[in-house]
Amino acid sequence: METSNYSYEQLSKEIRELRWQLEEANETIEAIRTGQVDALVVQNGNGHQLYTLKSADQTYRVFIEKMNEGVATINKEGYILYSNTRLAQMVHLPLDKVIGLSFEALVADESKELYRSITEEGWIKDCKEEIQLKDSNGKQICCLVSCTALELDEGMTLSLILTDLTVQKKHTHQLKIQNELLEDARYLTEKLNDELEDTVRARTKDLLISREHFKLLANHITQMTWTNLPNGKVNYFNQRWYDYTGLTFEQTREWGWKAVVHPDDLANTIAKYMSALQSGQIFEVENRYRRGKDGAYRWHLNRAIPLKNENDEIIFWVGTATDIEEQKRELDRKDEFIGVASHELKTPLTGLKGYLQLMTFYKNDDLPPRIKQYLTKANMAIGKLQYLVDDLLDVSKIKAGRLNYGMQIVNLKQIVDDCIENAIHIYPAFTFEIDNKTGFMVKGNAERLEQVLMNLVNNAVKYSRDVKKITIKTLKLENWVRVSVTDFGIGISEEQKNKIFERFYRVSDKKNMTSGLGMGLYISSEIINTHKGKIDVESKLGKGSTFYFDLPLEKA
Ligand code: ADP
Repeated sequence: METSNYSYEQLSKEIRELRWQLEEANETIEAIRTGQVDALVVQNGNGHQLYTLKSADQTYRVFIEKMNEGVATINKEGYILYSNTRLAQMVHLPLDKVIGLSFEALVADESKELYRSITEEGWIKDCKEEIQLKDSNGKQICCLVSCTALELDEGMTLSLILTDLTVQKKHTHQLKIQNELLEDARYLTEKLNDELEDTVRARTKDLLISREHFKLLANHITQMTWTNLPNGKVNYFNQRWYDYTGLTFEQTREWGWKAVVHPDDLANTIAKYMSALQSGQIFEVENRYRRGKDGAYRWHLNRAIPLKNENDEIIFWVGTATDIEEQKRELDRKDEFIGVASHELKTPLTGLKGYLQLMTFYKNDDLPPRIKQYLTKANMAIGKLQYLVDDLLDVSKIKAGRLNYGMQIVNLKQIVDDCIENAIHIYPAFTFEIDNKTGFMVKGNAERLEQVLMNLVNNAVKYSRDVKKITIKTLKLENWVRVSVTDFGIGISEEQKNKIFERFYRVSDKKNMTSGLGMGLYISSEIINTHKGKIDVESKLGKGSTFYFDLPLEKA
């Protein structure tokens, strides 16, 4: 057709008509796509022609439009005859640009060969493959493509269904990582488990050995042993306990052991036991246990120590009861001997002292100076001997419960002053710091109280090293009066503090060992006890000690 033969009006009309036809065609395509029509009349060179869409096709078209997969049909040359919206979205192209494109243009270079081979195969039989598409930005999309040949009215076409595998791939990848992590964790757990099993096996073996060890040890030592819980209930005894008491575990467990303690010792035992449980300090008490076979009570020394965990909490106590019956008898014999010996010594000592005194009367006469000197030294030696014998006699009297003396209201200031005067006289190398207040009246025996105070002063001198200073004080504490003697000497350890008031106890410290028999503090504490008072010490090793006794004040 020659364009020049057309007038402007004719051309405008034709363009309007074509535009209208195009619009109509677009609407029709949209209507077909969305399933709104199933028949249409198309005008072509041969006049109007009716095209019907098979009703089943209409349903499928709706499905295809709504599908999450990309769908295309291509002809033999590979050109896209139909594409659903999803495919256009996948490749980021407008739908009208996709239709008419060669499908291969949407395939990434690396997949082109595979694409060709599957589309070739697809015409013959259904097939599936994973290929890479590329979108309009060049980004690759991993897809599963399924090919099926379709016979349509317009001839044979190949239908391609494209499933976007990106998310699935991502998930698979994540799953793989998770699996790997899981596998690592499983391996580690298994390893840890093996190690743990080894440790448990080794520990169980150790535990078994140490249990057997403990049982063997516990059942073969000469002492009776037990363990008790922090609440005091006994939960184990060794064989010796059953052999000695003749009783069973059931009879003596928890608090059942009380039945075999001598009734006279029970209150003291329970008091010390409870106090140890409360304080967590070592439990120590002497008491008598009844022997099963003959009902005899034998003295035992009980000791228990707490076993603590890493948080310093007591888990249980381990105790031993050692038979000290023989030692007790031995000690009784020794006491008896001391009593007799000191008594026997006293008579010749008194005689000796008398004769020496007589000789001293001749001092001013014409005695050679050397003899006078010997007399003075003999008097001093006799004085020391007298102290010793007196102490020994006191100890045996205390043991026999016969340390008796009269008590009256006495002025403590006077007693302390007398002692100070005495001390200044016999220890000229020492300075005495005094704070002796008036007005303290107590009920007691002046001589015995002086003996106690002098003993504390003598010890302060004896156990001082470089600092030759002693402080003596009296102090009112509510209804009590305290007399204290402070030195700056060798001091006493915490452990020894409780022991020094025992009979014949001396701290075994070779470096600072001095003469003495360990009787002074024992006698002092007995005297203060009979005065209804308290005697004690505060001390720091290497720094010095303050010994003090408290007496109840008498009302003026
Ligand atoms: P003795 O002094 O004769 O040994 P004591 O009964 O007076 O006996 O004292 C018992 C123990 O207490 C002493 O052996 C000594 O170890 C210790 N002791 C007493 N007084 C003091 C003190 N002031 N400083 C340090 N230790 C002391």
